[in-house]
Amino acid sequence: MKLILIGCPGAGKGTQAKKLSKYFNIAHISTGDLLREQIKLETELGKEVADIMHSGHLVPDEIVTKILSERIERDDCKNGYILDGYPRNLSQAEGLTDIIGEVDKVVLIDVDDKIIVERISGRRGCSKCGQMYHVKYNPPKAEGICDECGSKLVQRKDDAEETVKNRLRIYHETTSPIINYYDEKGILLKVSGIGGIDEITSYLIKSLEEA
Ligand code: AMP
Repeated sequence: MKLILIGCPGAGKGTQAKKLSKYFNIAHISTGDLLREQIKLETELGKEVADIMHSGHLVPDEIVTKILSERIERDDCKNGYILDGYPRNLSQAEGLTDIIGEVDKVVLIDVDDKIIVERISGRRGCSKCGQMYHVKYNPPKAEGICDECGSKLVQRKDDAEETVKNRLRIYHETTSPIINYYDEKGILLKVSGIGGIDEITSYLIKSLEEA
């Protein structure tokens, strides 16, 4: 099974992709996570993309496509995968068909921009284990400290409010056109991203199984 999750930054793609990957036993591939890993490891590629990512702009297609092509060759992708954050523009969407052929379904998680700004700018993640929190909707027991491992919580640089607004603008300009691209192929599934996490997951699973 090959799935793509589309949605603006903060729509809950990462959260839902992890849950769907467990349920369908397919790999979860987040190009944002793959790029952040390169930055953390301080590789040449990481140094090249750090400033672009921190400003909320898109990394050049060749770099992301190369990282993605390498990732889908790994063993855990044999049963399929769910792409989270790729494709991000029309040229990546067209190129993806050349790399992996047709995908089964493309799921659009739909959330209004105003809700997104509040959601993302309150997001905090554990610097060690990656566990995610929200200052208002899912706070840790002790402020700024991870419940799971006791490490410090940090805000992703690109989650700062002004950067979020910039990322939303870029999303509407460059990512929105791929919605039409997949809709015309008849494989687009649109779901609301407002509600409880588990409620949205159940709805997504039901929609995918019925589709
Ligand atoms: P994400 O975690 O999906 O929100 O991605 C974080 C950042 O990584 C984005 O703002 C981009 O700078 C970069 N990025 C992730 N995926 C892509 C992609 N498919 N094309 C270009 N840049 C990407």
